[in-house]
Amino acid sequence: NEEDFFRSEKLRAVGELAAGMAHEIRNPLTTLRGFIDLSRSHGYNIERWFDVITQEITRMSELTGEFLQFSKPHISNMRLEPIGACIDRVRHLTESAVTSKGHTLDVEPVDDRVLIFMDRDKIVQVLLNLVRNAIEAMDEPGHIVVRTRVSASDVIIDIEDTGCGISEADASKIFDPFFTTKERGTGLGLSICRKIIEDHGGMLTVRSQPGVGTVFTIELPRGAMESS
Ligand code: ADP
Ligand code: MG
Repeated sequence: NEEDFFRSEKLRAVGELAAGMAHEIRNPLTTLRGFIDLSRSHGYNIERWFDVITQEITRMSELTGEFLQFSKPHISNMRLEPIGACIDRVRHLTESAVTSKGHTLDVEPVDDRVLIFMDRDKIVQVLLNLVRNAIEAMDEPGHIVVRTRVSASDVIIDIEDTGCGISEADASKIFDPFFTTKERGTGLGLSICRKIIEDHGGMLTVRSQPGVGTVFTIELPRGAMESS
């Protein structure tokens, strides 16, 4: 029946995720173990590999952290809150990363009365992920713009960058868990973002032109807007 179908679909998805995770963790573990064996049995001095070893451990720790977020029962603290405050918070959190690479981040002003029924921390997490991806997509100093529009039924937030863009072949895969084009990426960011937005009854989409830039668009159902 229908319930069984959804349960088995869910199990299949969980199985795929677990397999991806195991694969991502096993390779660095094998490397680390190799270093320790060398040091033990051949008295090999592994000190000069400490940077590599630390990097691998950091990566596994990031990966398990993101994986936990991914599997956590999602949105909880739903409240009607101003979206502008979330965007301000993300601007603040990313400020040093933006300026240290010579980028600019422009946030178009948002009316305080634009409210969304949301789990604020989760929405901040989504915006943070998208701005971080934008920063990582720009090798040269570039521009990020966060623009908010309000329609009759939705609040629409564009996160626009002047980065490397996404090829048509990759565009169909970027929301898949573990898909990454980065040497040290986890590939979990966008799949987490999409899940959070869909749990809010919204949509996360992308438009991109390779070599020109990318726009991620969040559409969230609108809460009440006070009359002025
Ligand atoms: P990660 O950042 O760990 O690679 P994500 O799920 O956040 O994982 O992103 C998946 C992939 O989508 C990235 O590796 C990159 O190829 C592509 N991507 C995401 N955001 C952007 C962007 N703003 N510009 C260009 N490519 C992007
Ligand atoms: Mg990312």
